[in-house]
Amino acid sequence: MAPTSQIESIAAALRPLLGPQGVLAAGDVPERNSKDWSSAAAIRPQLLLRPANTLQLSAALRVCHEHGQAVVVQGGLTGLCGGATPQTGEVALSTERMNRIEELDAIGNTATVQAGVILENLQRAASEAGLSFPLDFGSRGSCTLGGNLACNAGGNSVIRYGVARELCLGLEAVLADGTVLTHLNRMTKNTSGFDLKQLFIGSEGTLGVISRAVLKLYPAQRDKATAVVAADSFAEVLAVLWQRLAEDRGHDSHGNFVRRGNDAHEDISSGREDRSRQHGGKQDSLWIAAAK
Ligand SMILES: Cc1cc2nc3c(=O)[nH]c(=O)nc-3n(C[C@H](O)[C@H](O)[C@H](O)COP(=O)(O)OP(=O)(O)OC[C@H]3O[C@@H](n4cnc5c(N)ncnc54)[C@H](O)[C@@H]3O)c2cc1C
Repeated sequence: MAPTSQIESIAAALRPLLGPQGVLAAGDVPERNSKDWSSAAAIRPQLLLRPANTLQLSAALRVCHEHGQAVVVQGGLTGLCGGATPQTGEVALSTERMNRIEELDAIGNTATVQAGVILENLQRAASEAGLSFPLDFGSRGSCTLGGNLACNAGGNSVIRYGVARELCLGLEAVLADGTVLTHLNRMTKNTSGFDLKQLFIGSEGTLGVISRAVLKLYPAQRDKATAVVAADSFAEVLAVLWQRLAEDRGHDSHGNFVRRGNDAHEDISSGREDRSRQHGGKQDSLWIAAAK
């Protein structure tokens, strides 16, 4: 346990800066902040900090740093590795109030978000703008974009769109002493200097707290269909996937230009029947390939 006087001192310093909603102590800390989705033992933190913006987040970390106070970062608490479960004596810092989509740029195809935005909320906002944010998995309704980046999450679209790292153009993070590093790049091509965001993506809160991010959006898919493709070996599975990815880019696996459309799936995988056609498969079919 951290000394009660230390916890009280941190709470007293932060209440005027974060407001009553931003500092919850003792019995006011919700049970849900005691653990994430892992099997780690639940430990209810003595203090929960809930900053609403980068300035407040920076103040929260600075005051904890000045008191030598350990902090655990919490997003949607859906992580499966125990990284967001408090250890004894840690103060919890939740991004749940940092839940604003600051900008959705439908021309540049980017979204600028606070770290606590729920994944599904960004998916919905992108869809309403005729776009898509392709990161997707079962915890979409609870997990946060900051948590997704901190875990470098994958999900069901990684083969086509990549893991969270590949969907992030820029990032803002706050170090343990409250220093704010703002690298909210929006460009696909940015060759200048260090790419600091790469350090924070996948670092699970050990290097700092991700406060904001610029994420890539894609044109919305017009059609989706599911196909089951049986293959004799993993080599064939890979061949199918390479063929599919090459077609997405308008080339066959030999680099020749191919016609885009429903016929594009013909002659795939050594002359096997393309079963997606039986199901009215369309351009943006989801391919599930399995080796027998
Ligand atoms: C049903 C279900 C399905 C899932 N499917 C997948 C899947 O297909 N692929 C996959 O990769 N993962 C999957 N996950 C796990 C996945 O990693 C998380 O759901 C999600 O990425 C974590 O986000 P979160 O906001 O809940 O983070 P939390 O659980 O709150 O935190 C996770 C880690 O990130 C840190 N953290 C959180 N926010 C920040 C921040 N702003 N800055 C710095 N550090 C931070 C925490 O300290 C902790 O170490 C699944 C989980 C569930 C419950």
